[in-house]
Amino acid sequence: MKILVTGGAGYIGSHVVKALGQRGYEILVYDNLFTGHERAVLYGRLVKGDLSDKVFLDKVIKEFKPDAIMHFAAFIQVEESVREPLKYYRNNTVNTLNLLEVMRENRIKNLIFSSTAAVYGIPEKIPINEDAPLNPVNPYGFSKAAVERILTDLSQASDFNYVSLRYFNVAGADPEGKIGQAYKEATHLITRALKTAKGEFDKLQIFGTDYPTPDGTCIRDYIHVDDLAMAHLITLDYLLDKGKSNVFNCGYGYGYSVKEVVEAVKKITHIHFKAEEVGRRPGDSPVLVADSSRLKSELKWRPIHADLEYIIMTAWEWEKKL
Ligand code: UDP
Repeated sequence: MKILVTGGAGYIGSHVVKALGQRGYEILVYDNLFTGHERAVLYGRLVKGDLSDKVFLDKVIKEFKPDAIMHFAAFIQVEESVREPLKYYRNNTVNTLNLLEVMRENRIKNLIFSSTAAVYGIPEKIPINEDAPLNPVNPYGFSKAAVERILTDLSQASDFNYVSLRYFNVAGADPEGKIGQAYKEATHLITRALKTAKGEFDKLQIFGTDYPTPDGTCIRDYIHVDDLAMAHLITLDYLLDKGKSNVFNCGYGYGYSVKEVVEAVKKITHIHFKAEEVGRRPGDSPVLVADSSRLKSELKWRPIHADLEYIIMTAWEWEKKL
């Protein structure tokens, strides 16, 4: 079975590549290495390429002839997307369109798409299930929601099948310590807090303390990257066996506030770094917590790392090595 993985040298992609490799799949990683790293690709072959280059992408796909494509390549920072929306629509939406066109030309009909909880915006009901309306509140969320719409239309118009996995807040690192998030400019909370503990920043900023939550800070559902990787493997089986399109939330179903995460990071690292309360960060939704019962009941997903301290611990072990 041959799987092409776009963005397979990045944080989540590299963990999925490891899981695929351990299962014996033949893997080709297509990555422009803007934020990914060659050394993160533990299995398969890496081709350096950009999704904007349709001619090259077509050549790679013609040669490799994948049975399915997993599409991770994207920009992922909410705050940056607010400042630079075109960058997000170009890379996340237009480049995905390129991929879909090349897939169609080569009759590749199975895709797993990395979507996000950001497609929900400010949900009316918590936890959020997949039927909640999509109302993104930032360009990042819109850039992914637009792709979801394209995927729906395409699957209805042809024999193309996809599964969209809506990731909540992915964190943690490979428990064996071989891979982890390795992006210098990382802005995500746990990574940023760990880098502050390490002394890379003199303080952590807590963005917004006036949200309608118990301690006033935003609440997120943090999911360990290896549990997410397992979700991809079972999704792949589903897609190839059932040949049906679907959408699944990926989260644990409970959330932690920014302040709770900061306290947990201090506890695990034993470092009492400075955390300063500042104003809200544009584009943030107050509470994003998943209802993942569809993934559990339909695909029998059984997460094994659902523990914030374990997530932080694996991320800390990795961060200390960088
Ligand atoms: N956050 C924060 N300080 C930071 C980074 C993030 O207070 O240095 C907050 C952010 O405002 C949001 C939450 O942590 O409320 C999660 O943000 P992150 O960027 O990790 O993920 P997102 O939910 O935006 O994808």
